[in-house]
Amino acid sequence: MNRYFYNISGGNVRTLGPSALAALLEGIIKVVPAALLVDLFNTFYLSFTDPASGLDTTRLWSVCAILVVWLFVSYGAYSLLYDKSYRAAYKLAADGRLKLAEHIRHLSLGYFGKRDPGDMTNLLLSDYGQVEHTISHNLPQLISAIVLPLLAFTGFLFLDWRMALAMFMALPIGILLLWATDSLQARLSEKHVQAKNEAASRLQEYLTGIREIKAHNLGGKRFERLRQSFDRLKRDSIRLEGIMGPIILSAMLLTRSGMTIMIGIGSYLIVGGTLTLPVFLLFLLIGTRVFDPLTVVLLSYGEMRYSAYSAQRIMDVQRERTMQGQAPVDASGAIRFDQVSFGYNPDTPVLSKLSFAIKPQTITALVGPSGSGKSTVTRLIARFWDVDSGTISIGGQDLREASPEKLLQQLSMVFQDVYLFQDTIGNNIRIGKMDATQEEIEAAARRACCHEFISQLPQGYDTPVGEGGSTLSGGEKQRVSIARALLKDASIVLLDEATASLDPENEAAVQQAINELVANKTVIIIAHRLKTIQHADQILVLEQGKLVQSGTHEQLSARPGVYAGLWSLQQQAEGWQVK
Ligand code: ADP
Repeated sequence: MNRYFYNISGGNVRTLGPSALAALLEGIIKVVPAALLVDLFNTFYLSFTDPASGLDTTRLWSVCAILVVWLFVSYGAYSLLYDKSYRAAYKLAADGRLKLAEHIRHLSLGYFGKRDPGDMTNLLLSDYGQVEHTISHNLPQLISAIVLPLLAFTGFLFLDWRMALAMFMALPIGILLLWATDSLQARLSEKHVQAKNEAASRLQEYLTGIREIKAHNLGGKRFERLRQSFDRLKRDSIRLEGIMGPIILSAMLLTRSGMTIMIGIGSYLIVGGTLTLPVFLLFLLIGTRVFDPLTVVLLSYGEMRYSAYSAQRIMDVQRERTMQGQAPVDASGAIRFDQVSFGYNPDTPVLSKLSFAIKPQTITALVGPSGSGKSTVTRLIARFWDVDSGTISIGGQDLREASPEKLLQQLSMVFQDVYLFQDTIGNNIRIGKMDATQEEIEAAARRACCHEFISQLPQGYDTPVGEGGSTLSGGEKQRVSIARALLKDASIVLLDEATASLDPENEAAVQQAINELVANKTVIIIAHRLKTIQHADQILVLEQGKLVQSGTHEQLSARPGVYAGLWSLQQQAEGWQVK
């Protein structure tokens, strides 16, 4: 249980303090009418047993007056307490979410490869929602509902311990039942959360891939996967409710049977003459009010048990090691790969013992068949992953000790699959430099040959682009991403040449934009068309993660080997050139 509170509070149990205290006070306030009821009962009872003294009306009116005051006080106290407890709970959940999102940002990309994207979304939305509900509702309810039964039990012990024990006799059995089935409940909750995540992931996959599904007529097949995941969710939901329901219900019935036991034992004691009628009546009066909150306790417990698994998932991500390193990087220096080996999975090496050096302000082209590891080289330079062995250094700084953020500040990346955010086109360029002025954005757009087409859009730079940039053509998106990179003006440019054929007009514009981008920078370009890299300072030829050749175009095309083979194949190809 300690671990549970530790998990839901995101590792800081103390933050639960204010809302727990508020709930405790709420419970105490709720006890007042019950205590007054006892007093009223006594007042009436005395008037019957001692008719000479009559009904103590002063006391009666005093109790009524106290109740009226209680109404106002409790209203004031409740609003204050709600504010305190719920505000604290929601703040805790919001801070926790942000902390987790920040943590996720510092994880290596390898971590995301291991998880379904829908799973991550669910973690932040659904799992946190569950924990948030527990902190804001279940936990305060649980605490406040315990106060009255606890106080009643203590008071009753003094009044008549036999009756008090009779009243709460079955409660430990109910609790024992919950405790005994704890691991079953945990397993069911775990399966249900997993089924929920699986269904959300399949739904996300279905919606994201809807274009491909339509194009390749995969509706039946993909829909089948979606259907199966929903079937599993339905099955696990029914199982969870079907098994948990009777368990909680039995625990509730057992607890409530305390009333019956108490009446039985009370009657027996009255007949035996060891219990007086007023005490018995008092037990009946308060007893009925004790069991409702206890039912709430059991229901809250069930829900809290469920969210324990969500909290566990959140803590697991929080425990995941982030990328370490604080050292700044001098990106104007040379890039060196020294015996670098790397694999996305431990059992499939992608790069093996790769060594090369890139001089500052030169253009290096990476060439090789698809899957040879070209993109991997650029991802390792950006430290999306850390190497398995060997060293990558920039300006003499080993990247494993470099600050990932400071490194990324010095890199511009232009990939083939450009992602544009659902925002205005101007703001999409501004991502390169968040404090850029409109003039700077337009200047970058001009150099990237996109000012003209942006100016012709209905709202110019304020025109919204669809998510992923679906409203722009491939060539336009690429130029927008080059404008971003130009605005960033980083010392190192990582460039993945477009393989998709662009129309001649777009191609010339992209070529011009790239030539603007690479001037006076250290450039690493993944080249698919060799014609474009004839003037590169150095060409590295990769095959199955190994460096098989290196040199200039003249050197490599003159001697037999992989490059000469590729060159003769592509000689006829038309394309642009990096000058
Ligand atoms: P290239 O850019 O030369 O086409 P990549 O560097 O993209 O090659 O890929 C090299 C190898 O690594 C390929 O076998 C590819 O399947 C594998 N690979 C690439 N990205 C990942 C990833 N995120 N997870 C696992 N394997 C990957």
